[in-house]
Amino acid sequence: MQKLVIASNNSGKLREFQFLLQPLGIEVLTQAQLGIAEAEEPHFTFVENALAKARHVSRLSGLPALADDSGICVAALGGAPGVLSARYAGEPKSDQRNNEKLLRDLHGVADRRAHYYCVLVLLHHADDPQPLIAEGEWHGEIAHEERGDGGFGYDPLFWLPELGRMSAELSRDEKHAISHRGKALRVLLEKLKDL
Ligand code: IMP
Repeated sequence: MQKLVIASNNSGKLREFQFLLQPLGIEVLTQAQLGIAEAEEPHFTFVENALAKARHVSRLSGLPALADDSGICVAALGGAPGVLSARYAGEPKSDQRNNEKLLRDLHGVADRRAHYYCVLVLLHHADDPQPLIAEGEWHGEIAHEERGDGGFGYDPLFWLPELGRMSAELSRDEKHAISHRGKALRVLLEKLKDL
């Protein structure tokens, strides 16, 4: 595999994927560079949404495609916000309103357990029957108030008891070493080396 299209328009994710995949001799292109519009994400599971995004981009580009889907699952909310994490408080997407809604939904709830989840899907071609799939989880708790200005999304509320810090208080490298996305990427890289 020499060329790969990343099925995302998130510039932070793109930089991360380019940085990690180029040493493997893979030329990384982006969906935007090829003028491909974003896919719908209509499914109830992360893996189905990631597959849909990768298939859409692979079909339109004629190249292998890598997609990811991620979110936060809160135990006391039966796994919500889950696949709706980005739009938990509705449109337009807002991290601030999502965090406020999460705090309201957990008002008076003692069980604060939550985990981030990330799945990566790599399709060699649009009809590939055997995609490479790599997952990562990161467990913590939802705090009672926001703290820290690093990261994004729910990071100012994601408390790591064993570190005594919020996810938003970690450096980028510290977060990548232990996060759901970092874990999934390392699993994917191992699988790619074995191809
Ligand atoms: P997506 O994978 O870009 O669709 O992201 C889904 C949503 O999950 C984001 O908009 C965030 O709300 C949340 N999320 C996923 N990963 C993280 C993370 O590392 N920190 C904070 N929020 C995250």
